[in-house]
Amino acid sequence: MSQTVVKIDNLVKRYKELTAVDHFNLEIKEGEILGLLGPNGSGKTTTISCLLSLLKFEEGTIEVFGQKMNPDSYSLKRDIGVILQNVAVFDTLTVYENIDFFCGLYVKDKVARKKYVEEAIQFVELTEFQKFYPKKLSGGLLRRLNIACGIAHKPKLIILDEPTVAVDPQSRNKILEGIVELNRQGTTIIYTSHYMEEVEAICSRIVIMDKGKNIANGTANELKLMIQNNETIYIDMRVLPHEDLENIRQINHVYSAEYANEQLTVKCNGGKHNLIHIMNYLQEKGITFGRVHSELPTLNDVFLEITGKELRD
Ligand code: ADP
Ligand code: MG
Repeated sequence: MSQTVVKIDNLVKRYKELTAVDHFNLEIKEGEILGLLGPNGSGKTTTISCLLSLLKFEEGTIEVFGQKMNPDSYSLKRDIGVILQNVAVFDTLTVYENIDFFCGLYVKDKVARKKYVEEAIQFVELTEFQKFYPKKLSGGLLRRLNIACGIAHKPKLIILDEPTVAVDPQSRNKILEGIVELNRQGTTIIYTSHYMEEVEAICSRIVIMDKGKNIANGTANELKLMIQNNETIYIDMRVLPHEDLENIRQINHVYSAEYANEQLTVKCNGGKHNLIHIMNYLQEKGITFGRVHSELPTLNDVFLEITGKELRD
């Protein structure tokens, strides 16, 4: 059995009358990359801030590495690396000096610290920029500096809060690859995002959050099996008589069919040959059609089925 790294029980955090985190539960085991996926405002950052004891909360308990987390739990904080949503570095320090400062909060030995700082710089590939001041860095490089500051002291748990928002694709890929590599080296990761593709690509387990609640929990495949949607088929066509739409709705495994903007959208559950049944029907009726494509369920479909709204705003 791997060790429990984080245990959040029944967390409630209110900002006046708004309940930002609502009886939220989460348990994370050593070695996981836990994706906390939810739309903007769902309570991800608030949960992270409570976890780090940066915010007081109304109800619940939080344990990290089996111990209760408090604002002055310095020995616990030594083992946690935090990369917050808003970049937090010093404008008056260079790239090297910034990383050295944050690493120095936890690593006092000078020789070890120098090694750690250099490793962090290499890790985020900022070697050429180590003498630069943050103001001279592009958005993507600045994010990478922010990450280096959070990981240089080699924590056992790393928490990244939306590290790829407004980041160019190249830096974004570097960040995602870096997270996977840190995990491969044994670090437990909490990764929050509202981008389902990223969460699906790198996370070993996903918790979907909405309105402060944990609404679903599992691997991407487990989450997709929880819902009835198995395939969504899109067929372009100029016209579709209402009677035919009704008939398509009666085809085996079809649970929803809509026609709008010259496109037929058919949602199916179960079964593997849904597309062929629909094509056969259209052919039989002599209905002409254009482009056809079919999509397997996404995490957005999971979110849509549970909450009735899209994950993306
Ligand atoms: P996320 O990180 O998922 O986007 P947040 O945790 O930032 O969500 O916010 C959750 C909810 O709490 C939102 O409705 C947000 O407007 C509200 N909120 C966040 N921070 C504060 C604050 N300091 N004061 C009042 N309301 C806040
Ligand atoms: Mg946030």
